[in-house]
Amino acid sequence: MMNLVSRLCGKINPISVKDYREYDGLKALEVCLFNREPNELVDIIKQSNLKGRGGAAFPTGLKWEFVASENNDTKYVVCNADEGEPGTFKDKVLLEGCPLQIIEGMIIAGYAVGANNGYIYIRGEYPRAKKLLIDAISNLEKEGYLGQNILGQEFSFNIEVRSGSGAYICGEETALIKSIEGDAGRARHKPPYPPNEGLWGKPTLVNNVETLANIPLIINMGPEEYKRYGTSSSNGTKLISVSGCVVNKGVFEVEFGITLREILFDICGGLKDGKQLKFIQLGGASGACLPEELLDTKLDFDELRKLDISLGSGAILVVDDTVDLLGFVKTTMEFFKHESCGKCVPCREGNKHIVKILDRIIQGNGTERDLDLLKNISMVMRDCSCCGLGQAAPTALITTMRFFEDEYNDLIHHHYKKDIDKLNREVIVNG
Ligand code: SF4
Repeated sequence: MMNLVSRLCGKINPISVKDYREYDGLKALEVCLFNREPNELVDIIKQSNLKGRGGAAFPTGLKWEFVASENNDTKYVVCNADEGEPGTFKDKVLLEGCPLQIIEGMIIAGYAVGANNGYIYIRGEYPRAKKLLIDAISNLEKEGYLGQNILGQEFSFNIEVRSGSGAYICGEETALIKSIEGDAGRARHKPPYPPNEGLWGKPTLVNNVETLANIPLIINMGPEEYKRYGTSSSNGTKLISVSGCVVNKGVFEVEFGITLREILFDICGGLKDGKQLKFIQLGGASGACLPEELLDTKLDFDELRKLDISLGSGAILVVDDTVDLLGFVKTTMEFFKHESCGKCVPCREGNKHIVKILDRIIQGNGTERDLDLLKNISMVMRDCSCCGLGQAAPTALITTMRFFEDEYNDLIHHHYKKDIDKLNREVIVNG
């Protein structure tokens, strides 16, 4: 386990500027404002090879460069704290444990890209974190680290906190932007991307909580030192949220390159009650379901991409072999059916039809054609949905059909036999 990004969580009063400064807090911001030009900071983040920790793993430095290069007097920085992916609670640990570090990352980002205003969009279910953020912002303003002419320099930066109301779609950046603007949180087609046209049509940098919490560390240690952590393609550490049938649940910070097996057995103590693993779902409800044979896969963006799998938000759900596979997938798809905003056909109709077909198969009335339909609908959703929600919704279905194909085939081909076996047993038992 590592203690880098989360090193201050539980160690200091989360809103105390004094406590934070005792652990080198705000030193990075001071260095930036007094000794660095904005374009140097963009270069440092690019050199660090930091990739977004929210799910898309887009190179952070490149995103900063896109916003910085926009010729516009008004730009924004948005911190995406709408952690709505089921099974994901790692940002909550940072928001409640070291909000000052996230805010420091945001101010540095604002200075680097030329933005003077920022918003933190936090999920409504995190009232404690919201209160801590508001108090932390107020304390930084009192100390001159936020507001007009920060530390007597030309640069000014203000932050407002906005909260969501429980819509999963608002974690998607364009829907989140709509919600901050006061409209219904609905995703829109991209391009234009937020770095070009974001909040109120202005260039907007949207970064995840964990991504921003990495920024002061990179500035303090320098990109080369930072790159000593992790692998050549995935630098630094990752916060993972582990839940399900496992001895030690919770949030752990790990270095990229660790295997899923090491996480499951060395860090989390293996499965509870001596149960056998069925699969782990990596990345939340929209993540892939991986069988035991893939446990030696490394936590590494490139290695996972080779398997056509995304690390997503870093959630790991451990599922034991007593769980009904198709029932699990159906529940997951019902979640997406409920959360789909309904704007585009592949997602709105696809989720509904997948749930219906799965139900038919579970009831014992599935056919070969149903398996083809499931594959076709999920491919259309993945390729044609307007936003990430619809594109990623069928991932559990696609990966279970890939890694547990026999179970789907069994239900299709042997459902009558199963019923007959059951009938036979009942006849024998009842004598
Ligand atoms: S993919 Fe789903 S959530 Fe996204 S815009 Fe389309 S209907 Fe809405």
